[in-house]
Amino acid sequence: MNSKPLEEMSILLVDDSRFSREIIQSLLVKNNFKNLMLSGSSAEAMAVLGVSTPQKEERDVDLILMDVVMKTMDGIEATREIKKHFRFKDVPIVMVSGVTEKEKLQEAFSAGASDYIEKPVNEIELVARVKSILSLSREIKERKDRELKLLKLTRELEEANKKLEVLSSLDGLTGVANRRILDQALSKEWMRMARSSQPISMLLIDVDYFKKFNDSYGHIAGDECLKKVARAISFSVSRPGDTVARYGGEEFAVILPETDGPGAQRVAVAIMERVGKLGIRHESSEIGKTLTVSQGVATMIPVDSKKSSALLEMADKALYKAKHEGRARIVAMK
Ligand code: GH3
Ligand code: MG
Ligand code: MG
Repeated sequence: MNSKPLEEMSILLVDDSRFSREIIQSLLVKNNFKNLMLSGSSAEAMAVLGVSTPQKEERDVDLILMDVVMKTMDGIEATREIKKHFRFKDVPIVMVSGVTEKEKLQEAFSAGASDYIEKPVNEIELVARVKSILSLSREIKERKDRELKLLKLTRELEEANKKLEVLSSLDGLTGVANRRILDQALSKEWMRMARSSQPISMLLIDVDYFKKFNDSYGHIAGDECLKKVARAISFSVSRPGDTVARYGGEEFAVILPETDGPGAQRVAVAIMERVGKLGIRHESSEIGKTLTVSQGVATMIPVDSKKSSALLEMADKALYKAKHEGRARIVAMK
């Protein structure tokens, strides 16, 4: 990032003594500061900054040099007013104070001032103080800008990832279709079967005692297990119109268009056998030493008066029954 030269940063000088203003101004100009604004009172300064009356264009300022004692509103009060505005939270205010006003400085710091310079102003001290404080505030500003940019990039990345996820049709872990595709396939096939008065079947497959599996072997082994089960299911389903999907967690769904009860049963049995052949050890299962699944099978001939969700509900009921009756089994409903 190319930093702005310190001499081009803007300084607002607030002092009700014209003499004082002119001295400080001439010293700053002599040292090449080009961007100076002068105000003869707190009220004028606040108008310039758009604090008292909203301005069309908000003036940016990098540093404020503020006289402590002024006739109407003093510099401490003005500092407090300016600092109330979020816009000026990081803008340093340096008090310019006479020797006799030193006891007021504590109050000025509580009001939000960052530093002070003594009057009568000494050129070397003024320039050194102004430069060091401007360079510090420039650094803070640049760091904030960088952080903001980074935050924006992170947000954009998150947005892009979300879009990608929506566009994607595959489940990230197992590679089978995701829930969105399952829902689409179900309503599409339901309508297609309704038109031709053909049966459609659905399988809901749930891994038995999978929580215990995770507890015994860990979540990563659990994930690996789900991948294997997904593959076993996919290999058991052969027709091009069939859909295998991850329904959620450790539950899978299969849609079988143009398939009656006995046909669906055959697929369910094939899945049972393939999962059994995987021989995944599951010591904490309550029904054996290897991993098993329970399946709910539903078959319907769709009619227009019913929604596709009826098939899903029926498969769900069947699965519930399979779990209830002891797991590792197929329960079919028609
Ligand atoms: P049930 O035989 O009654 O189905 O018991 P269960 O433990 O399989 O069923 P439950 O619904 O109580 O718990 C399912 C568990 O599946 C909970 C969660 O730890 C695990 N699970 C869900 N999704 C994932 C996943 O993506 N990866 C892993 N490793 N585990 C998952
Ligand atoms: Mg389960
Ligand atoms: Mg479950």
